Amino acid sequence: MVAASFDVVILGGGPGGYVAALRAAQLGAKTAIVEKDRLGGTCLVRGCIPTKALLQSSELYSQAKDGAVFGVIADKVAFDWAAAQKRKTAVVDQLVKGVEGLLKAGGVTVFRGAARLAGDGAVEVAADRITAKDIVIATGSAIARIPLKGAEHTIDSDQILELKEVPARLAIIGGGVVGMEFAAMFAALGSKVTVLEMLPQVLPMVDADLVNVYTKHLAGLGGAVHTNSKVAEVAKLKGSLQVRFSEGGEGGAVDADQVLLAVGRAPYTEGLGAEEAGVKLERGRVVVDAQLHTSASGVWAIGDVIGGIMLAHVASYEGVCAVENIAGHAKRTPDYHAAPNCIYTDPEIAHVGLGEKEAKEAGLDVKVGRFPFAAAGRALTLGQSEGFVKVISDARSGRLLGAHIIGPRATDLIAEATLAVQNGLTLEQIDLTIHAHPTLPEALMEAALAAQGRALHIANRKAAQPVAVPGETAAAQNREQQMVAPVKAPVKTPPKSPPPPTAITPKALELTKENRDYLLKLHRLMQLIRRFEERTQEQYTKAKIGGYCHLNIGEEATVVGSILPLKLTDYIFTSYREHGHAIARGVDPKAVMAELFGKETGTSHGRGGSMHMFDADLRFMGGYGIVGGHLPLATGGGWAVKYNKQKDVVMCLFGDGATNIGAFHESLNFSKVFHLPVVWLCVNNRYGMGTPVEAASAVKDIYKKACAYDMESIQIDGMNLREVMVRTSEIIEKTRADSEPRFIEALCYRFKGHSVVDPDKYRSAEDKEKFRKSDPIVAFEHELETSGLATEEYFKTVRVEVDAEVQDIIKFADDSPDPDPADLYNYVYAGEWENRPELRGDPL
Ligand code: FAD
Repeated sequence: MVAASFDVVILGGGPGGYVAALRAAQLGAKTAIVEKDRLGGTCLVRGCIPTKALLQSSELYSQAKDGAVFGVIADKVAFDWAAAQKRKTAVVDQLVKGVEGLLKAGGVTVFRGAARLAGDGAVEVAADRITAKDIVIATGSAIARIPLKGAEHTIDSDQILELKEVPARLAIIGGGVVGMEFAAMFAALGSKVTVLEMLPQVLPMVDADLVNVYTKHLAGLGGAVHTNSKVAEVAKLKGSLQVRFSEGGEGGAVDADQVLLAVGRAPYTEGLGAEEAGVKLERGRVVVDAQLHTSASGVWAIGDVIGGIMLAHVASYEGVCAVENIAGHAKRTPDYHAAPNCIYTDPEIAHVGLGEKEAKEAGLDVKVGRFPFAAAGRALTLGQSEGFVKVISDARSGRLLGAHIIGPRATDLIAEATLAVQNGLTLEQIDLTIHAHPTLPEALMEAALAAQGRALHIANRKAAQPVAVPGETAAAQNREQQMVAPVKAPVKTPPKSPPPPTAITPKALELTKENRDYLLKLHRLMQLIRRFEERTQEQYTKAKIGGYCHLNIGEEATVVGSILPLKLTDYIFTSYREHGHAIARGVDPKAVMAELFGKETGTSHGRGGSMHMFDADLRFMGGYGIVGGHLPLATGGGWAVKYNKQKDVVMCLFGDGATNIGAFHESLNFSKVFHLPVVWLCVNNRYGMGTPVEAASAVKDIYKKACAYDMESIQIDGMNLREVMVRTSEIIEKTRADSEPRFIEALCYRFKGHSVVDPDKYRSAEDKEKFRKSDPIVAFEHELETSGLATEEYFKTVRVEVDAEVQDIIKFADDSPDPDPADLYNYVYAGEWENRPELRGDPL
């Protein structure tokens, strides 16, 4: 029997206990540690380390099988489970030995056996009795059990590590971290994995958009995840097991060769005599105060045994805090706000600080930025481009509140975000830090930039700089806060071109050398919209775009010419034929295509799809309702402007078909009676769906309809860019000055049917040919060429460049993530949701 006395004795040699012992010894305390099993605890022996060693084997196996694309041909790749186990054991043994060595070197005395608190600073270990001024309980946790019929047929996380072979079918009860890591491991090794989770989401602490990426990956390996599924029984059948469960009220069953029960861990105090020694327990966990002191004098507790965040690094951190408090070295109150959580699935997941959902639920005003690994050079070289980095920041201060990462080495990448969250760094401080290239951490920098609308290697969600009205700077248009990646520089801008004039006037658009720069920008923009629409039609036929799809082809002069004269503080209400309007307004074309594809990077986060293109920041209110459903809304917009005594103008664009409905007449009447600053612009492309104007309307000249409301109205050639710009600009500025509504009818012709699926049989070939001849782009090119401002060669170059740009746009949309079904109710109010916390409520 030994009777020894120490300054500090630590009970339990896991990552909490052994780190505490090392630190206590460093601080000069005479230290002992008691361990009843192997030093290193759950983490080294049965948890973090053995699982990650085996996961490395499964990852390497997957990579070897897929080696051919890297030029590595490994024939007959096979997996040797026994060898993987042997390696795992060697890694564990080495680390355990390492801990033994460290403790010895630090002068810590190790007692082997189960410790029992004997009161008054005494601890019994078998026949030995140790006394200490301070005692730290670090006895960790044990596998949690649930009353489950047939539980005896299941295995736990300790037993699965010792399996003799890879099960052909593995059912996992519990979709927490442990369950999902084993799911990743065994799915990669070829097991048919089924996860059964009682909650609506596996990995409930992780934002759903990340979880979706992982579960999709798992599904690709043949795995299945059943959420909202309560397991009732595990039955033993002949030669197999069967897990019976109920899913949303319906019964289900999964056959399996092994069933892992992974429903969590519980604080472990068995045989410790805690309560007898005055240590208060609450539902099994040791209760501690803010400095980790228990209810018994001189007794402290750390790690899994106190509950909370049950992770190895948190246990170690608490161990250091506790012994520093004991030493009086510092009064340490653990701060958990930047405790990272790493999940070694494939792809890996890691998060720190607040998640997007959590922050928004807390009513915080946040800015979120994302960057997909598909756009990160290093990820592509690794051949691991699944996933993304998401940062959540405080909208006002720019401080990083949290980061969620799914993708290659996410568990390493989280370190930089952790440092930033811990130290209250801002997004700007992150992006001003030089990040080496090509590396994965660049993705965090880009996500930080994206949150500020300044991403460099993906399209920014918000506006790219539109082609500015001549002479009007971005600042004048009140867009400083939205400085984002500029649109690709227009080709062949002449050097030292004189400053453009201050407003759109006939002189500003004269075909002169002074105006050449601006005119070429306009030409390029029309070409971009044309090519965008042509390729959109193709994408639709490839079924990448849902619903209907209405194109601007043939109407580019009206599209560009009517949108550009508006100030960025003006409002645009448009209809479904809106892609070109959005691009002309300065919405990034990548975001427009992504929206058409229904992707998360789209203008409305994929919520609007092909017919509802919104950008609240750009005051761009896309298609709302069928035909002229948006006219009353534009009237409301006019009211709001008038009510607020602003000088903004509301531009409402619609087709000729909309002019026969009651809402058209009510809206015009109302706007005139109340003197609202609305410019009504009818894009008369001569067919309301398939019906010619003259067949649908008694008044063929639509602008005359506005006369009925005593409103100034004009008819313009919608195929002539310069005419549209000058005359629309005049009307807009008049309306701005006197707050009177006005009406413009732009005579156009659409080169395609009403929508992409319209076979367009109602128009004669002659009719089409006639209007083809007045193609607005060809006409403008002709003007530029005959006045010596550009050559056919130049136009060809523009076409090639624009074509390449649109290819990039499509690639971006293809590579973008889908929206997360779990938060589909977000962003539904034209982006307002993000910016206006008062609009938030419980949608359910
Ligand atoms: P433990 O590590 O549980 O150590 C407690 C020690 O106390 C044990 O060695 C035990 O034998 C000993 N002990 C208990 N009672 C007595 C007594 N009366 N006398 C003497 N000794 C006693 N965490 C991560 O951070 N990252 C991961 O990747 C990760 N992966 C995991 C994978 C699995 C499968 C599991 C099960 C856990 C994983 N964890 C992971 C969790 C992590 O292992 C624990 O959070 C961590 O080990 C807790 O450390 P601890 O020191 O509090 O307790």
